[in-house]
Amino acid sequence: MSKTVASKENAGLIRRYSHYINGENITSTSGRLIERINPATGKLIGTLQDGTAEDVDLAVSAAVEAFEDGRWSGLTAAQRSDVLRNVSRRLKEDWQDLALYESLETGKPLAQASGEAQWAGDIWDYAAGQARSLHGETYTNVGEDKLGLVLKHPVGPVGLITPWNYPIVVLSQKLPFALAAGCTVVAKPSELTSGSTLAIAKFLEEAGLPKGAFNVVTGYGDPVGKRIAEHPHIRMISFTGSTVTGQSIARAATGNMKKVVLELGGKNPTVVFSDANLEAAVDGAIKGFVYNSGAECCSGSRVFVQRESIAAFTELLCKRLEAVKVGDPMDPLTTMGAIINEAQFAKINRYIAEGKKSGDLAFGGNVITDLPGLFVQPTVFTNVSPTAPIAREEVFGPVLVVIPFDDLSDAISLANDTEYGLAAGVWTSNLETALTMARKVRAGIVWVNTFLDMPSEVPFGGTRQSGYGRENGRQAIEEFTVTKSVVVQNPSTYERYLG
Ligand code: NAD
Repeated sequence: MSKTVASKENAGLIRRYSHYINGENITSTSGRLIERINPATGKLIGTLQDGTAEDVDLAVSAAVEAFEDGRWSGLTAAQRSDVLRNVSRRLKEDWQDLALYESLETGKPLAQASGEAQWAGDIWDYAAGQARSLHGETYTNVGEDKLGLVLKHPVGPVGLITPWNYPIVVLSQKLPFALAAGCTVVAKPSELTSGSTLAIAKFLEEAGLPKGAFNVVTGYGDPVGKRIAEHPHIRMISFTGSTVTGQSIARAATGNMKKVVLELGGKNPTVVFSDANLEAAVDGAIKGFVYNSGAECCSGSRVFVQRESIAAFTELLCKRLEAVKVGDPMDPLTTMGAIINEAQFAKINRYIAEGKKSGDLAFGGNVITDLPGLFVQPTVFTNVSPTAPIAREEVFGPVLVVIPFDDLSDAISLANDTEYGLAAGVWTSNLETALTMARKVRAGIVWVNTFLDMPSEVPFGGTRQSGYGRENGRQAIEEFTVTKSVVVQNPSTYERYLG
């Protein structure tokens, strides 16, 4: 797998990407390219620019100029909304090529990538609505001769840095809201999955976005992401990725006191009470660790089951997992595709090896060797201590631990025994149990009798080591604004300071 292969039959699929700066396709000052291979086949599918700090500076200059002259922020909300709706339509209707490359770059099933492009279309549509409903406030209660006004301004040129697991969706949780607020943008996608961000730049251009309002610089975290995070003319960073990178971004952002939104990792609990619909809970647990091969910040990778039900739960779980088809992402029947790259594949296998030592293997546990790419079985461990690394650390792969609990308070303390706080799932038919869990579990989102369920209207984000700030929902556009207060006095009644 370490050799890239550009075979004849693959040649038609290879794309040559440039940076997208000020409406132009530009090559890097480094003169170097990064090769991307399809993790499901080991074949070369694209080359992208290995960006530099100078490339970032060029993109930031374009974003600053586009912001300062008002070519985007000076438009009416209706005009901005039109551009965003146009992209939403493209994502909902014209997603075939985008989804194909998303699947080739990530190794995820094509059917899943297609669904994600359309899901992203809904987020753009929601953001287009937010552009038109963003407004300030008026205070008429501060005196007969006075008025208080609260204005919402775009924060300025912003940097968006995104990971490889959901390249279209994660970008879409940031970009349309930034543009809706009137910000201009420099984006850095993951070096593993840059194609969709550049494709969306084209959608925006064709929808009429002015030059310089959206710029894309590809390349590695250091130097490209690092330079965006520390750049003195970038006013805000919205980052999704690992907690460790998030910490370095927060530090880099202090130079000019950038606003920072961080969407980071998780080790999310799913809690199944004995009064739950067991079939539904098993299905939710499977979705929670199999979807996207477990490369999911909200992955329900720790499942706690009430002790009297754990045997029945585990038996049904393992039986249902037989239906998970791992393999060719192009096959519409495939549930789980390839692992993104060799480093991630090795990391998952290290955790599986650790799990075999610290617990009992109940399902899977092997790599799949009769396929050309990087594939691993969905893997379940039981009899694992809640303190074992496999039960505490983010694997970011299709690996689950199933752990028993006794009662509600035990469930709450096990669920909260983590430094993360992104998502949680609760399965119960008891309303009081559901509400208590929803209140007591430390997480940005709690799903009750459902999992990985994210309507665009509902805010999304973490607490603790899972980050801060919110995406989607009404808060998303607010994140990209600064509040300015204005106090207006009737001049004839101005009370002089010096009499
Ligand atoms: P990562 O932190 O390695 O990389 C994320 C992005 O940051 C990439 O574009 C990378 O090139 C860039 N980067 C790396 N070093 C940088 C630096 N020093 N300065 C600036 N940018 C830098 O994460 P990943 O491996 O791409 O993604 C997996 C992680 O993302 C997991 O921890 C997962 O939980 C998290 N994630 C979180 C959410 C969420 O919404 N909370 C969603 C998806 C993924």
